[in-house]
Amino acid sequence: MKPIFAVPIDDKVLIHSPLQKISALVNPTAALMIRDAVLFDQEPHEKVNALCKALNARPFEVPQPRTGSLQAPMFLGLIPVYGSMTGCIFTDCTAGAEAESVMSLETARQALDAYFELLTRAGQPLADIRIFGAEAFPALDVLFFTEAYARQRAEQENLALHLTLVTDGHLPIKIARWVGDHFNDVTLSLEGLQGVGEDETFDPFEPSISSQVFDNACIFSDSPGDLTLRVCTTRRTINHMGDIAAWIVSSFVPNVVCYQSWMPKCGSGEGLGAVDPVAFARAFNQAAYELEAHGILACHNPVDFHTPRLSACPVGEDALIISPEGRINACPLPLSVWQSESLPFQIGAVSPEGFEIDPVALNDIRALTVLKSPVCEDCISLFHCAGGCYVNNPREGQSGRFSDRCLQTRLVTISNLLRAMDQYEAARDWLDHYDAASHDHKVAKDRLKDFK
Ligand code: SF4
Repeated sequence: MKPIFAVPIDDKVLIHSPLQKISALVNPTAALMIRDAVLFDQEPHEKVNALCKALNARPFEVPQPRTGSLQAPMFLGLIPVYGSMTGCIFTDCTAGAEAESVMSLETARQALDAYFELLTRAGQPLADIRIFGAEAFPALDVLFFTEAYARQRAEQENLALHLTLVTDGHLPIKIARWVGDHFNDVTLSLEGLQGVGEDETFDPFEPSISSQVFDNACIFSDSPGDLTLRVCTTRRTINHMGDIAAWIVSSFVPNVVCYQSWMPKCGSGEGLGAVDPVAFARAFNQAAYELEAHGILACHNPVDFHTPRLSACPVGEDALIISPEGRINACPLPLSVWQSESLPFQIGAVSPEGFEIDPVALNDIRALTVLKSPVCEDCISLFHCAGGCYVNNPREGQSGRFSDRCLQTRLVTISNLLRAMDQYEAARDWLDHYDAASHDHKVAKDRLKDFK
C-alpha cells in the first residue's frame, strides 16, 4: 500500500506523501475522495483531480538499505575523547564524561590514511570528516593534526574536503578563530541556556551562557563556514524558546538552529525537568516561525522532513566513527551506552593496515532500518523521524501506540509540514488546543487507508 498519510488538523485533514514530497490541507470530504481514488482506484471527483493525479503520477521511491561492500561512507567521524558533544547532535542525549581514553595521533593518522584510500579506490569525489569535541588538551592536538593531514591527503588525492567540528565552544579564542578559518562547518552547543530559572524572564543581555561560548559563537558566526547552533530545551526554558530564538537572531548569523529536548535518560542536568511533548511542539513551532522568517532553518532531531530516510542518524549509512581507542563504530555514543541496549554498533577497527571491517556486522547494522520497526509502521513521521535514536527510542510495540517522545516528534513533524505550506497559524491553533490526554488510550493510525 502506498505510504500516504492523512491526519486531522481541526476541521481540515493534512494529506502527506513523504516519498513524493507532496502535502496538502483539504477538508474531510476531499480526503475521503482522495483515499478512494488513489488507493482504491475509484474515479476522482473533479475537485480533487489535480491532487489525485499528482499522487498517482510521481514515483514512490522507497529508500533501500545499503548493500554490497563499503564504497561510500557517509563520513569519517573522529572522537578524540568522549565528552558531552559526541552524541547530542544525533540524539537527545550526551555521551557523558567517559574521558579516560584520548585518541593518539597515530590512530588519527591511520584512520585518515585508510579513509582516503577507501575514497580513492571507490572513486569518491569528497572527503567528509567530522570531529566530535576536541576542547580538552591533548585532544586539541588531534584537531590540529587532523586538519593539516586531511588537507594534505585531500590535495594529494585530488579530492574535495569538508571539515566539521562539533564543539561545546569552550575553546580559547585564538583556537576558535583558527577553527573559523579552517573548518567548513561548526556545530556549537549553546550550553547554559537550559538553566534559565523557571520563573525568570529570559534576559537577552545576560543570557546565562559563558562569555567564552558567546564570544566563540560570534567568531563562528562571522566566519565563512556554516554554523549550526544547538539549543537544549528543558522544562525550565520551554516558555523561553521564542525569546531565545529572537536573541539568537539578534546576536548571531547561524544557518541552522537545532533544538533538542532534555530527556530523563540524558544522565546529566538532573532536576532540569523533562519537557512536556505538546508544550515543546507549541514552543518549537513559534521559535521555528521566527527563525524561518530570517532565513534560518530550525530543526528538531530526529525530524528531517526534507529528505525521506530510513535512519535518523549515521547508523546504517556506513558512517565510520572512530573511537579514541581506534574502534570503528556506527554510532557516536560510547560503546557502553549502546551495548547496554544490546545494540551491535561496532563495525571493525583501525590498524596500521587500514580499516578492518566486519562485513557481517556492517550488513546487520544496515538492515536495522525503520522498515523493521513495528511501532513506526503507520506513523506520519515514518520517513522523517525514521525511528529516532536506536538507543533511546524503543522500536518494539504495537503500531500506533506512541510514547511521549514519539508524540513530540509527530507533532513537530506535522507542524513543520504545515509551516512549509505557509500554514503557521493552522499549526499554532491546532497545537494550542491539542489534548494529549484524549489520545492516551487510543491507537493512532495515520495512513490514508485508515482515514474515515
Ligand atoms: S512511531 Fe515514533 S519513532 Fe517511529 S517514526 Fe513515529 S515518531 Fe518516529
